[in-house]
Amino acid sequence: MGTITDIFGSMVFDDRAMKASLPAGVYLSLKKTIDEGALLDPEVANSVADAMKDWAISKGATHFTHWFQPLTGITAEKHDSFISPAGDGGVLMEFSGKNLIKGEPDASSFPSGGLRATFEARGYTAWDPTSYAFIKGKTLCIPTAFCSYGGEALDKKTPLLRSMEALNRESVRILKLMGDDKVTYVQSSVGPEQEYFLVTREMYDQRPDLRFTGRTLFGAKPLKGQEIDDHYFGVTKPKVAAFMEDLNEELWKLGVLAKTEHNEVAPAQHELAPIYTTTNIATDHNQLTMEIMQKVAAKHGLVCLLHEKPFAGVNGSGKHNNWSVSTDYGVNLLSPGSTPDHNMKFLIFLCAVIKAVDDYQDLLRLSVATAGNDHRLGANEAPPAVISIFLGDELTAILESIEKNEPYAGTEKIQMKLGVDVLPKFVRDTTDRNRTSPFAFTGNKFEFRMLGSSNSIACANIMLNSAVADTLSGFSQELETAKDIEEALHDIIRKTVREHKRIIFNGNGYDDSWIREATEQRGLLNYRTTPDCMPHLLDEKNVAMLTRQNVFSEAELESRCEIMLENYNRIVVIEANTMAGMARAHILPAVESYCADLARSAEAKKEIAPSLRCAYETDLISRLSVLTDEIYERVGDLESAIRLVDDTPDVIEKAELIRDSLLGRMSELRIACDESEVLTAKSYWPFPTYSDLLYSVH
Ligand code: ADP
Ligand code: MG
Repeated sequence: MGTITDIFGSMVFDDRAMKASLPAGVYLSLKKTIDEGALLDPEVANSVADAMKDWAISKGATHFTHWFQPLTGITAEKHDSFISPAGDGGVLMEFSGKNLIKGEPDASSFPSGGLRATFEARGYTAWDPTSYAFIKGKTLCIPTAFCSYGGEALDKKTPLLRSMEALNRESVRILKLMGDDKVTYVQSSVGPEQEYFLVTREMYDQRPDLRFTGRTLFGAKPLKGQEIDDHYFGVTKPKVAAFMEDLNEELWKLGVLAKTEHNEVAPAQHELAPIYTTTNIATDHNQLTMEIMQKVAAKHGLVCLLHEKPFAGVNGSGKHNNWSVSTDYGVNLLSPGSTPDHNMKFLIFLCAVIKAVDDYQDLLRLSVATAGNDHRLGANEAPPAVISIFLGDELTAILESIEKNEPYAGTEKIQMKLGVDVLPKFVRDTTDRNRTSPFAFTGNKFEFRMLGSSNSIACANIMLNSAVADTLSGFSQELETAKDIEEALHDIIRKTVREHKRIIFNGNGYDDSWIREATEQRGLLNYRTTPDCMPHLLDEKNVAMLTRQNVFSEAELESRCEIMLENYNRIVVIEANTMAGMARAHILPAVESYCADLARSAEAKKEIAPSLRCAYETDLISRLSVLTDEIYERVGDLESAIRLVDDTPDVIEKAELIRDSLLGRMSELRIACDESEVLTAKSYWPFPTYSDLLYSVH
């Protein structure tokens, strides 16, 4: 490989490539569109398309595709080649501004939650010039939004861009009210930390559950689990190191700022963190990262598991969404500064986040809800399903002293006059290292830790951006009618702390007593599962906020709610069917043949020595027979429950039925199977065990 600086972004039509290949006027016009969202001139589009094509061909590309993020959760692309008949039997390589700006993929196979049926059968993709085009394999990929002909969003990018626009608009508005004449735009940035597992292809191929559902549906606890904390930040095994090296190189070529990598808590678990960037690009990059991880793993004879809970009893995988908001002149509004003016902005944005998270706990919770993540939230390693904010003791104390208008009794006792005095210095609280808080302030950013490893980060950031934008808008309304801005800012901060401090919690989020306190005393929401939270997307206050901020229309919200629940239903039903199939076709016959061999062996022994009790064989056969009967009954029971679910047409009723009647039966079946695994000789067991899987990569 060349040096990192040579390869970095070499497959991206980035600012450097644009500058080098576009006429100066075209470059400036495109840059204005990218930075400030200015409308794009069709002439400019033609010129960009031309340069992009030449650049792509020079890098070996033969095809182009509009790359988009439908609601299935993965990315989609349909490849077209550049060739066009030249009339003399030869071909020309063609790519016009029209090809660049708009595409018409066959949208019928993507979920639309009834939107396309209601409006127009086809959908179209539209170029997002704010995210650079890139080359994957031999294909020029153009990041696009995906909409119905009526303009309804059918993807995750469109509402994300709208939410960024809302946050930009409302942030600039309040900053101007606070006397900032410099600001022209405000952007949110994200650095998502991605967790994943690696197993060998050989092991993976022998597990139908992993292949069909991405997680193990059976499996007794391994002999060595994560009790001994020797994996976290431990030495990386050679095969893993080779994978990581290759992965970094591939990501760097695509301009992904892959930065840190280390082992995680569980055996075979790892993490990759990029350097943060604009939310929109971070989202595209995270989708790309997940895709490239799987491709590179395959090249190394490995499989990268992105499921939230591939192994029961072992830590699951999440994604930490590090989020901040900054101005075009480079000031992070979530970073406490050293001037009174900056601090006032910091406190206002901090309060906006506190109020937004409290008011829209439900939206944040449901933005990360999937069948996979339900296994994680509330379990032992992930944040609980209850949302709270960690601020650290000192910042909390500072806010309380402002609320009560009392001197802050920190290291030195000071009476602060906001807008005049500088915030007392507070040290970044290190207790956030316990990682139990779902939403933690980490010095100059908030870390939303509830995302599942396979989640697109779009959904969480859509809700976060929108809720904060709407809260800022409320603050601005107060400022616009205030006689004294300074006084009004004070009031906003005091009122926010008073009314929303219930959401601030600096203790241990894994503690059972916290869940009781949160729900019983503080009245915080605790939606444990996807069917519990998803329908709240359509609660009046949520629809009102999201439509007010122009992020979603009501029809889009209805369709999304339906699609998310349909996804949930489909996933769990596939899991249930896979379980039933594995139990019937593999586990029962395996245990049976082991018992038969034990019986034959006991008989043979008795022939030799009739007085032998053969207690080993007899006891084992007895216990295993009890278990096979249990498995047999539970499979039948599960299959009847699946039929009932299949016969329930209403999507919400179906989801509730799955939650109440399927998941419990799946656990019951698993318990009997896992005990059988422990008692059955390894050579008879039809699948690689947890020990095989978790320690397969060296
Ligand atoms: P830690 O390891 O303490 O969680 P890091 O500094 O390693 O924190 O950052 C974790 C992630 O947060 C990285 O992706 C990093 O780029 C990102 N990050 C750092 N600063 C910011 C910021 N101001 N806004 C958004 N993301 C940030
Ligand atoms: Mg972190």
